[in-house]
Amino acid sequence: MKFDLLIKNGHVIDPLSGYDGKGDVGIKDGKVAKLGLNLPASSADSVIDVDGFIVMPGVIDSHVHVSSPERWVGFSMMAQAGVVTAVDFGGPIESTLEGLKRFGCGMNIAGLHTVTPGVNTRTADPSFEELDEIAERALAGGALGLKIVGGHHPSTPEATARIIEVANKKGCYVAFHVGTTRTGSNIEGFFEAIELAGKNRLHIAHVNSYCRGLTKTPAQEALDAVEALKKSRHLVSESYLGTINGTSAHCVDGLPSSHVTRNCLKMRGFEPTEKGMGEAILKGWALIQVLRGGKIELVTGQEGYDIWKSADTKTGVSFPVNDTAAMHILASAKMPDGEFVVDAISTDGGAIPRNVQLERGSALVKLGALTWPELVKKLTYNPARMFGFTHKGSVSEGFDGDVTVVDPVSGKPYLAVSRGQIIMIDGIVVGKGGFLLTTEKGLKKAEELGIPAEAAELDKSLFYTR
Ligand SMILES: [Zn+2]
Repeated sequence: MKFDLLIKNGHVIDPLSGYDGKGDVGIKDGKVAKLGLNLPASSADSVIDVDGFIVMPGVIDSHVHVSSPERWVGFSMMAQAGVVTAVDFGGPIESTLEGLKRFGCGMNIAGLHTVTPGVNTRTADPSFEELDEIAERALAGGALGLKIVGGHHPSTPEATARIIEVANKKGCYVAFHVGTTRTGSNIEGFFEAIELAGKNRLHIAHVNSYCRGLTKTPAQEALDAVEALKKSRHLVSESYLGTINGTSAHCVDGLPSSHVTRNCLKMRGFEPTEKGMGEAILKGWALIQVLRGGKIELVTGQEGYDIWKSADTKTGVSFPVNDTAAMHILASAKMPDGEFVVDAISTDGGAIPRNVQLERGSALVKLGALTWPELVKKLTYNPARMFGFTHKGSVSEGFDGDVTVVDPVSGKPYLAVSRGQIIMIDGIVVGKGGFLLTTEKGLKKAEELGIPAEAAELDKSLFYTR
């Protein structure tokens, strides 16, 4: 057989088959045609020698933000970080798809559509029927499901539970950044989310971000979260390894519109107001997100303040609020059977500059908190199963030709391949266009937009079957 692309001489780690050693991956027609030893270089149109590197299935980032125009740069930032597939957790889905089409860098993208009662619903307490209609529209628009952003814009617990219920009835995906009018984006909101889900399926987003020390130490809160998730195995979750968070600096009537932003100000003794925000930027606690040289950078002090003011406060902002001990506990905690308690390592990144899953994940391996095969599983195979991406998460024969190659010492990605096409090599992004992972209901929209697409198999996903 003649391969289109042969990735040779790397150390291949494949969670599905358990392959963990020297090997070659041959790709043909966008699929893995062969995983094995000493595949002859003459058998391929194009050969890349990756001796000394680790070769894994294409990294799947299970939680990113690339939906709004100012965040479309996130596609290229992800490709640079070795990501091949990602799920946008923001929306609106129309904007995610437009970004994918124009700036997709050859990546595979699925998108959730945000539902915020009182913000993008007709009423603050939407009925089942109204939510059903929104979900139908989101799915027809190409979304994989819904996202609840209670942490930033809380709804009542009742309205929140109704969104979860509607998504489950439809068999689509639903993820929750926890928090309601009763709790917040914290460990109490996390426990409430489990309660609101009941027997329904739910993805609890970025568990680490709720362990910032509201009621106990962050590490103790992380241990409590682990215990709770062990008892709620019908839920799926992910956590990330970045120190900074990402939220909005936008202020309305003298107040930050996001509750997360208000809490971050309070954490360091700043007033949760526009004035307090200004002081936090000047003092270096709040880092303003700025587009520079094809990526988002963080700027603080007077320079950050001036940018924030001239944008009428409408910028993104990050605070260094994530606890290291908590993130390590959540990244490595296991069930008695060896499965991970938190299913995946994500970034909550994309355009938020913290696509550090390989860099920091490899540091966890050096520390002995994870092995390479375990890290690879959390970055590829597990997220593929969570979302029902049944052709992804493995470099076994027949799977999509998605591959990430990484330097095991620095954790720096060297190569990213999406469906047999190189999208990034040695830090240079060369991928174009994009591929949509949606549901059966979204295929028509993808066709209309001219975006190649396929339906995820949610009925077979970990989300619906565990
Ligand atoms: Zn997020």
